[in-house]
Amino acid sequence: MKVAMIGAGYVGLVSGACFADFGHEVVCVDMVESKIEALRKGEIPIYEPGLDVLVNGNRFAGRLSFTTDIAEAVKGAEAVFIAVGTPTRRGDGHADLTYVYAAARDIAKAMTGYTVVVTKSTVPVGTADEVEAIIRAERPDAEFSVASNPEFLREGAAIDDFKRPDRVVVGVEDDRARDVMRALYRPLFLNETPIVFTSRRTSELIKYAANAFLATKITFINEIADLCEKVGANVQDVSRGIGLDGRIGKKFLHAGPGYGGSCFPKDTIALVRTAQQFGAPVRIVETVVDVNTQRKLHMVDKIEAACGGSVKGKTVAVLGLTFKPETDDMRDAPSLDIVPGLIEKGATVRAHDPQGVKEAKHLLPASVIYCDGPYEAAKDADAVVIVTEWNAYRALDLARVKKTLKNPVMIDLRNIYDPAEMAKQGIAYSSIGR
Ligand code: NAD
Repeated sequence: MKVAMIGAGYVGLVSGACFADFGHEVVCVDMVESKIEALRKGEIPIYEPGLDVLVNGNRFAGRLSFTTDIAEAVKGAEAVFIAVGTPTRRGDGHADLTYVYAAARDIAKAMTGYTVVVTKSTVPVGTADEVEAIIRAERPDAEFSVASNPEFLREGAAIDDFKRPDRVVVGVEDDRARDVMRALYRPLFLNETPIVFTSRRTSELIKYAANAFLATKITFINEIADLCEKVGANVQDVSRGIGLDGRIGKKFLHAGPGYGGSCFPKDTIALVRTAQQFGAPVRIVETVVDVNTQRKLHMVDKIEAACGGSVKGKTVAVLGLTFKPETDDMRDAPSLDIVPGLIEKGATVRAHDPQGVKEAKHLLPASVIYCDGPYEAAKDADAVVIVTEWNAYRALDLARVKKTLKNPVMIDLRNIYDPAEMAKQGIAYSSIGR
């Protein structure tokens, strides 16, 4: 099937490459010329494990191509996906749909023959209706349907998540669109992946409800972690003790510095706003948003406490800047609160991240010193803070870390080390909820 993917970012590029790998003929479109130029040369503009092999394999097989010309890509396509960004709208917290609606207008102008326009971006309830209205206004006689197909992939494991998802959610209002969506995901049907066909509005809400639930689960265990610290309990054992209950489940029960990333922060706020707008407030999610925002800021206090009450005039090594490992994505990463917070309190920050530095340089204060590795970051520092649990930090030579630091202090915001082992090493260690 001929497919156009509008937006070649974390979701569009992975989805486009995976659909090509399913055997479809895919053209990915992006308005950023440098991105398309790079992709045409086989260079991948983002860091996502395995994506270079997948993109280039399908490019050489002639199933995947790239353009900045949306009309060229949409012409003749049976399915056109909108996978553009939906960031938080400045001022009110709603999702900013400017890019989605602009794409819809461009698609409308270029469609030839029956086309299914699919919103893959995370969009508020009613957006597919609006996309349909935009296209209808532009092309009153065109034959088309609009479907909703939210994406659930996780950065860092995106290809596997796309190809072996827990489920695919598809919102359609007519059988013709349903048949096209079924044909697109045929390889997953054959795998017996559950495909949830529902209405467009329900499909749109499923995505927000899923993200809000996961953000709530993280926030819940983070608050339990704080309680653990007060009462002398261990949050990792609590997580295991509750997570083994099949009704609760083990995942998303890792206490940490607060959730960040390209989805949870903006999607929880957008859901709160939608719910308020429709007069059915989601008070749990409102609280989750507040608690999480405070938590990220509170991490600076935690680091100060571990440094004897102040970081003024001290050097702090920060390991991990991206919002999670195996991505270069810095959007809403906890480091964006923690690093400026430390600098504001008078610390010098030496930082390391395996993939995020290029992006971090645009987002963090200019005074941050970027280092080539964790030991270089720790050199003569008064404390080392693990902010993101990259594998490179999971098996540090602790004796070397201790020798490299001026003061043997470690604040582990991801609980990747064992407090007993740290005590044995003579490192003053603090972590979350233990
Ligand atoms: P992104 O910013 O990485 O990519 C969006 C791309 O769209 C950019 O490259 C941008 O240049 C391009 N673009 C914008 N308007 C365009 C237009 N009119 N024509 C052509 N290109 C255009 O964003 P992302 O992380 O891929 O997210 C996209 C959507 O998917 C968002 O709604 C997001 O919430 C959702 N989502 C993201 C993830 C994730 O892990 N990143 C997971 C699930 C869902």
